[in-house]
Amino acid sequence: MKNIIKTLKNYLANFLLPKTCHHCKCDLSADYKEPLCLKCAGNLKDMGALKCKRCGINLDSGGTYCFNCSGAKAKKFKCSLIRSCFIFTPEIRSLIHNFKYHEHLRLKHFFNSALLKTFNQTPEFKKVDIVVPVPLSCLRYRARGYNQSAVLAKKLSASTHISYVPQSLKRIKNTKSQVNLDKEKRASNMKNAFKAAGKITGKTILLIDDVATTGSTLEACAEALKKAGAKNIYALTIAREPFKH
Ligand SMILES: [Zn+2]
Ligand SMILES: [Zn+2]
Repeated sequence: MKNIIKTLKNYLANFLLPKTCHHCKCDLSADYKEPLCLKCAGNLKDMGALKCKRCGINLDSGGTYCFNCSGAKAKKFKCSLIRSCFIFTPEIRSLIHNFKYHEHLRLKHFFNSALLKTFNQTPEFKKVDIVVPVPLSCLRYRARGYNQSAVLAKKLSASTHISYVPQSLKRIKNTKSQVNLDKEKRASNMKNAFKAAGKITGKTILLIDDVATTGSTLEACAEALKKAGAKNIYALTIAREPFKH
């Protein structure tokens, strides 16, 4: 009986609000659980094994570090490790866009299993003491009503039993959108944008964000946290956008 009610509920929900693929908008059956149709899901790309040891960007031709992180440069970064679940393909872009701007908060389950998989594949993450989302600026938070990175960080914290401490980091500057800025401008836009607070001395912190491009936002967060006494800063994002110099 319970199952019949559930099926009826599903069909009714589907009738009122037909289920479509988040990317190509094709119709999906009422009992289909995934956010993308099979074809679009097949176009999702994991980061794979060939990636920069520090920033995690794809290295199609192999090697240990990308140009940005090679040699002594790897050590100057405050964020010592960035890992992402997917390469920034159009399909993952649609999912993140719907999550961010259209409040498809149910997508958090899909994102959480991806984050959890990458978390478990990264031995360094076993040392993490607290999980902290990259904070939104006050203006953006007011406009959107929620911080998508906080939703992801909270869920990951519940799955890994690592403390979720969002108040460790505050945004103190309303930064411009990074979209059309080059690498240097992105870094200066983010400079002093964050301030760390609370008991973080000696802690290993995992930052959570939706997309990493040059890593300048994560680096600015890591600088603030290190300044306040944190020991190691790592980052985990849903997607990694290849950056054209
Ligand atoms: Zn599709
Ligand atoms: Zn790198």
